[in-house]
Amino acid sequence: MVSKEMLALGKKSSVIREIFEYAKVRRAEIGAENVFDFSLGNPSIPAPTVVGETMQKLLAETDPVLLHGYTSAPGDMGVRQTIANHVKERFGIEANPNLIYMTCGAAASLTVSLRAICSEGDEVILLAPFFPEYQVFVRNAGAVPVIVPGRVGTFDIDFDALASAITIKTRAIIINSPNNPSGVVLNEACIRRLATLLTEKSAEFGRPIAIIADEPYRELVYGDVEVPYIPCYYDNTLVCYSYSKSLSLPGERIGYILVPPTMSGAGDVFAAICGAGRSLGFVCAPSLLQLTVGACDGTPPDLTAYDENRTLLYESLTKIGYEAVRPDGAFYLFVKTLEPDATAFYEKAKQHELLLVPSDSFGVPGYVRIAYCVSNDQIRRSIPAFEALYKDYHKE
Ligand code: PLP
Repeated sequence: MVSKEMLALGKKSSVIREIFEYAKVRRAEIGAENVFDFSLGNPSIPAPTVVGETMQKLLAETDPVLLHGYTSAPGDMGVRQTIANHVKERFGIEANPNLIYMTCGAAASLTVSLRAICSEGDEVILLAPFFPEYQVFVRNAGAVPVIVPGRVGTFDIDFDALASAITIKTRAIIINSPNNPSGVVLNEACIRRLATLLTEKSAEFGRPIAIIADEPYRELVYGDVEVPYIPCYYDNTLVCYSYSKSLSLPGERIGYILVPPTMSGAGDVFAAICGAGRSLGFVCAPSLLQLTVGACDGTPPDLTAYDENRTLLYESLTKIGYEAVRPDGAFYLFVKTLEPDATAFYEKAKQHELLLVPSDSFGVPGYVRIAYCVSNDQIRRSIPAFEALYKDYHKE
């Protein structure tokens, strides 16, 4: 009666979701203030006020039949035009509204993009650490995930390992910068080097290799860190954007895919994206949300709270003795575990009511991810628990 593959997937929920559910139970048992849940990347800052104001205005002033009706399958043309204009102004590249496809967030952008460009047996490279759902999305497109570990400690690209992982079957590589779970931002030199390597390998194997740029955290960077816009360096890039984190709208499910006009066979790639959207049932993203992000695209998030959390957590933990990757973006801290087995460390942390995500599902051993998109107060109150955990491993 059911697909064995889907049954297995449905029965085994993601580790992050499992911890999140455990946190709910634990809160009911011992009180919310005693549980330090750092599991989920759910933004803790509210959406900018302009988002709510725009929605209210749309609800008050737009004909409800239009507002709640279907848009065209790839999305409302006015919204796509606005996004294209902003991309042109901001990054100085050509962008065409006819090559923008509105989606239900980055997850839909990724599944649609992968389905559009992959054929059965193609390989898609994932740079570890990576967002665990990539493996599910790649397999769903009939492709095979090929994991290439990043450089330990810095978690940027290990170019020797990447060069040897590329084969004639390589169809795409997913680049996620700022990165979940490490917070690492790939700099311009790194993106240039990546573009050169992929151009050479595409020529060597006689077929283009695409970059799928997964960009939900593009706007979440600290200090003067810049996030290179990959289509400026490499034409064969699909940008999978999402407003989930930049506008704090993860539950509203809205984002887009951008195909640069300079991409090889851009028109056909876009047609295949429309086909994949159709085949996966992702046509016509929610209309109210399309119009809302059309009006709010480019609104910068106020990152003060995340930045304070980042500094407090990084400084407190490294002072205790933990080793962590200093994050330049997103809202995650990737911390080296105090024993090689990340899951065993996670279990020990749990005894102190610290709910961290072990790194195995991110494709890397020996780390935990701490999502610091929580209240500053939670971080402050959790520091003694981190101290006690450290002491468990450093008893005389
Ligand atoms: N990609 C990465 C790296 C993420 O961290 C997430 C969500 O946390 C997603 C994609 C999915 O984002 P969305 O909620 O927009 O579907």
